[in-house]
Amino acid sequence: MSSDCIFCKIAGGQLETELVYEDSEIVAFKDINPQAPVHLLIIPRRHVPSLLDLQEDDADLAGRLLLTANRLARTFKIDQSGYRVLTNCGKDAGQAVSHLHLHLLGGRPLLQTMG
Ligand code: 5GP
Ligand code: ZN
Repeated sequence: MSSDCIFCKIAGGQLETELVYEDSEIVAFKDINPQAPVHLLIIPRRHVPSLLDLQEDDADLAGRLLLTANRLARTFKIDQSGYRVLTNCGKDAGQAVSHLHLHLLGGRPLLQTMG
């Protein structure tokens, strides 16, 4: 837990946010500024600043984060229409919140851009 991290506060229940998924390691919630009809954030409960900070020992967690994206794509019924999963890592990617999060986006055709 990082005391000034908003996503730690959401995961810890100190910042009221509806969770669309939670288990012992992972929580997911709706993005406050959605860029698509479905825009969810999937985060580890533990404070990991970014993708770059994941270690070999976190391989299971990394896999479970991705599988949670699949699970939520089914729950939110975008599994057949298609969806995008991405994470911004560091300054040039525009990472605004320094707590690892996967964006899950779908529900409309998404721009074909890699940058
Ligand atoms: P980043 O740019 O770091 O990849 O994305 C951060 C995301 O977190 C943004 O899409 C932003 O809208 C979202 N966000 C920032 N603060 C909050 C918050 O307090 N609650 C929720 N639900 N989303 C947030
Ligand atoms: Zn955090």
